[in-house]
Amino acid sequence: MGAGGRTSVPPSPKKPEFNPLKRVPCSKPPFTLCQIKKAIPPHCFKRFVLRSFSYLIYDLVLASLFYYVATNYFPSLPQPLPYVAWPIYWAMQGCIFTAFWALAHECGHQAFSDYQWLDDTIGFILHTFLLTPYFSLKYSHRRHHSNTGSLERDEVFVPKKKSALKWWAKHFNNPLGRFLEISIQLTLGWPLYLLFNITGPPYDWLACHYDPYGPIFSDRQRLQIYVSDAGMLFTFSCWPKG
Ligand SMILES: [Zn+2]
Repeated sequence: MGAGGRTSVPPSPKKPEFNPLKRVPCSKPPFTLCQIKKAIPPHCFKRFVLRSFSYLIYDLVLASLFYYVATNYFPSLPQPLPYVAWPIYWAMQGCIFTAFWALAHECGHQAFSDYQWLDDTIGFILHTFLLTPYFSLKYSHRRHHSNTGSLERDEVFVPKKKSALKWWAKHFNNPLGRFLEISIQLTLGWPLYLLFNITGPPYDWLACHYDPYGPIFSDRQRLQIYVSDAGMLFTFSCWPKG
């Protein structure tokens, strides 16, 4: 030991300050979108009506099977098994219904077939069944894909600047907070987005997907927004009463 049993600790060299912005690519990538498309085999861009319908029928069969098993066998299960069986059914049927939603979403991108009238018909039926306004989403969603992640032009998930975060945001920056945020996003996020444009870009007035005169849509799209709304009303009218 040295004098007095004390050792002097040399000051640790100051760590260079971490700048996350240095990791963010700000310049254009050394390739174009066109080059990426050319690198993908041409058959990947081909649409086959029969194959598309096979996915739809596959999902229909599964959904019908789940429904049949649940409604015919669950009521005769001994207590408390129904309390376990029904949530499992909801989760499984939810996955299949999400597959319907994804198929309708592909119709909105005209990826289901080469015929727009067929894509719009299938997409409209499936999305309307799931209470999603097909044409409204089709038009707004296209802008989302062409501007994904843009602070100025994204249509669905506009990233927030740090300065725009509310005072309570820092309290959610932990595992429990993120769990709560994700839970709210997965349950209320979708209807709140459609109704009130939550997480969407700012507009001069309320950007509601059910409003044919809303600022999201152009004049030539408004008639189809009425059609989407009529589909929603029809679905609601089919719900069991009482
Ligand atoms: Zn999409």
